Amino acid sequence: MRQTVRKSKAECTGCGACMSICPRGAITMQPDEEGFLYPAVDGTRCVECDLCEKRCPAGRTQAENRPQLFGAQNRDEALRRASSSGGVFTALARAWMKRGGVVFGAAFDEALRVEHIGAFDETELDGMRGSKYVQSDASEAIAHAAALLERGIPVLFSGTPCQISGLKARVGKKESDLLLTVDFVCHGVPSPGVFASYLRELEKRHGQRVVRYTFRDKRRGWKDFSAVATFEDGTEHAGQQTTEPFLYGFLQNLYLRPSCTQCETMREGHHPADITVADLWGIQEVTPDADDDTGMSLVFLNTKRGRQAFEACRSQLAVFPIEGTQKLLRDNPSIAHAAKPHQNREAFFRRYKRKGFESAYVMKLLAGPGRLERAAARIAHLPKGLLRRVRVLLGRG
Ligand SMILES: Cc1cc2nc3c(=O)[nH]c(=O)nc-3n(C[C@H](O)[C@H](O)[C@H](O)COP(=O)(O)OP(=O)(O)OC[C@H]3O[C@@H](n4cnc5c(N)ncnc54)[C@H](O)[C@@H]3O)c2cc1C
Ligand code: SF4
Ligand code: SF4
Repeated sequence: MRQTVRKSKAECTGCGACMSICPRGAITMQPDEEGFLYPAVDGTRCVECDLCEKRCPAGRTQAENRPQLFGAQNRDEALRRASSSGGVFTALARAWMKRGGVVFGAAFDEALRVEHIGAFDETELDGMRGSKYVQSDASEAIAHAAALLERGIPVLFSGTPCQISGLKARVGKKESDLLLTVDFVCHGVPSPGVFASYLRELEKRHGQRVVRYTFRDKRRGWKDFSAVATFEDGTEHAGQQTTEPFLYGFLQNLYLRPSCTQCETMREGHHPADITVADLWGIQEVTPDADDDTGMSLVFLNTKRGRQAFEACRSQLAVFPIEGTQKLLRDNPSIAHAAKPHQNREAFFRRYKRKGFESAYVMKLLAGPGRLERAAARIAHLPKGLLRRVRVLLGRG
């Protein structure tokens, strides 16, 4: 009897497409011990048609595209500051809504869980703006988007490359110009369970609920961004890329989904979406004069549909062409390669399973061994005879 969809758990991206593909409703997404969602199959409902496994997009090579590249910035400064990069997503979404379309993207719910929702008017885009560095649950949204498309309603779906692959697997051969897909250069996604546990730690320490969390606060600038937790009374806990424990752990790959560290097939020239957006890190190599530190997007137009959609919103943007990504790779390696798991990932999860998120422990794991521990480790690797002599010298023999 089938219990899960993929034989190799590490390949599963958690896109949730299988859940909506199953004709018997036998699949639900359930968290594992690390806090990531995986499909679980109810054996009493499963009729072993194997549709879920046949249509699962994980690990499939994406067709090659030859993208056109642009740097772009939304002309509206307030909107740019509220977005993570240059605010291209909102420009595309607004233009899409003008033609009567629905926009799907990731937003926080009241409990600060991240899930994909559908926006029918511009005010509903507010919650989608800004990157959430935690895996969004897109499984229900994929089913809703597919249902809207079947009714002839245009859909813009924005998400990770693997979520776009999941949506395409669900829609299958019926895909048409009614669907516009937008993904991004993807560093990988941290565990929703780990993020929830981090919020609980913050709330315990401050004695109040966290009501808002921003991963990319630009008050200090686009490049030196902060993550900010806002409590009920309006006070804030903020930190930068090496001082805010959850953000630091994300950037150092301490708790990325296992599939993210094997994710080589949806990178440069092989993105599944019509348009790929990213931060134009390394802007100083391309056009330093254009940088006002409020955010700049790198845009890959992968398909004809993507080029048309970009044209439709171009009046909202300041745009300039870019020649290739070679100069940008040093500052944005995720354009071409998957992240490598942090050497202490296993140690983190061993302890997380017992104790939850502990900021002090995370900072210790990320700092690496201290001077004394490094010296002790070196000594421990000395040949036995030499080690005895060192011990005698230290008076511990
Ligand atoms: C987990 C993650 C990793 C990223 N890694 C990189 C990277 O390595 N290099 C790089 O250049 N850019 C990366 N990005 C993309 C970048 O941070 C911006 O999201 C992107 O450039 C769009 O910016 P914007 O200003 O156009 O719009 P914004 O308004 O900032 O974009 C928000 C869009 O991102 C979507 N989104 C936000 N959080 C999630 C999520 N958790 N899952 C799915 N979709 C989400 C929203 O639905 C919305 O469509 C990453 C984004 C995320 C969420
Ligand atoms: S369809 Fe998505 S969630 Fe289902 S097994 Fe495949 S990768 Fe995992
Ligand atoms: S790194 Fe790959 S597997 Fe991970 S979220 Fe991004 S696209 Fe999906």
